Amino acid sequence: MTKSERVNLYDLPQKQLEEALGAIVSPPFRIKQIVEWMHVHGVDTFDAMTNLPKELRAALAARFTIAFPQVIERTTPAADGSRKYLFQLADGNRIEAVYMPMGDRTSVCLSSQAGCAVGCTFCVTGFFGAGRNLTPSEMIGQFFTIQHEHAVPMEMMNVVFMGMGEPLLNFEHLVTTLDMLYRNIAPKRVTVSTAGIIPGIDDLANLPRRPNLAVSINAPDRRRREEIMPITKKYPLDDLIASLKRYPSEKGREITIEYVLLSGYNDSHLDAVALARLLHGLRVKVNAIPFNEDPNLPPWMKRPKEGSIDRFVDTLVRNGVAVTVRRSKGREIAAACGQLRGKDVAKSRATR
Ligand code: SAH
Ligand code: SF4
Repeated sequence: MTKSERVNLYDLPQKQLEEALGAIVSPPFRIKQIVEWMHVHGVDTFDAMTNLPKELRAALAARFTIAFPQVIERTTPAADGSRKYLFQLADGNRIEAVYMPMGDRTSVCLSSQAGCAVGCTFCVTGFFGAGRNLTPSEMIGQFFTIQHEHAVPMEMMNVVFMGMGEPLLNFEHLVTTLDMLYRNIAPKRVTVSTAGIIPGIDDLANLPRRPNLAVSINAPDRRRREEIMPITKKYPLDDLIASLKRYPSEKGREITIEYVLLSGYNDSHLDAVALARLLHGLRVKVNAIPFNEDPNLPPWMKRPKEGSIDRFVDTLVRNGVAVTVRRSKGREIAAACGQLRGKDVAKSRATR
């Protein structure tokens, strides 16, 4: 069997995984051991499964793989220790993930697609266009690679799907990945960020174990939202707000509203008032993200001055909306997801 013909066991939902293993593994407790090596310890070679007989490890390796994507670049750590990782996938696609230590908690930001068809005009991933869905092994691989490299205790880990791509357009693989993550991490420590794919939000609402929901609103009215997020013509703002109203609320949890602040475009006092009005009656907190500039993005798009950011935040607070600003370096490089790959693509275009 060639390498590409072997099934990656991390791509299978647990039931299918157990069935696939059942074909060559007995007795049943061996299957349990293998699943534990994978989902609890996140090993990426069968040889690491040290309590299995050697012959079984060889038989597994002949039939299956448990490989992760390969790290091909790490940025030097920022002042707060955060680092961005560039991964190469088996078919040559490149994706990013971000490691963000934050005191007693550590967040890892994962990509869900090798590009994005949504095409938001302020986003580098959107600029480079659509890319295929990542498989569960490619998503969980980003997570375990970074968690292992920094030996982060699982109880400190948070996971956010805020990297490249639109996770709710890769729903099935996302759910398989979530179920694997939940072996180590509680659903309330996992956040899925969406541009507002309404059917996907409804599907998420129906999951027995729901992650936190983050929704990128980015503008206080329909006209501007459609201008910078073309997909929202299909999923209009009012319908999106209605879908958030019917999203089941859980104790101690609120929906995060992401709002990219673009200087002179959506960062005025009045915009903050309009946003507060839009969110009225919803249990949410706003995460204001100062725009991250990039040479591939329209030159008129600028990060607001600190004073404007403060004023916007103050207005929200005075209108009863909880808000945090992504100011730390780690948060910033996460908001810039797609940029490292972007540079890479630009480089290879230039040298072609
Ligand atoms: N597709 C999903 C998740 C990935 S994008 C979504 O759109 O929510 C994650 C976040 O990064 C989104 O809130 C998006 O609005 C933000 N973002 C994208 N490009 C940015 C940029 N150049 N500066 C700041 N934030 C950006
Ligand atoms: Fe896709 Fe999110 Fe970027 Fe929009 S902001 S293009 S949805 S990754």
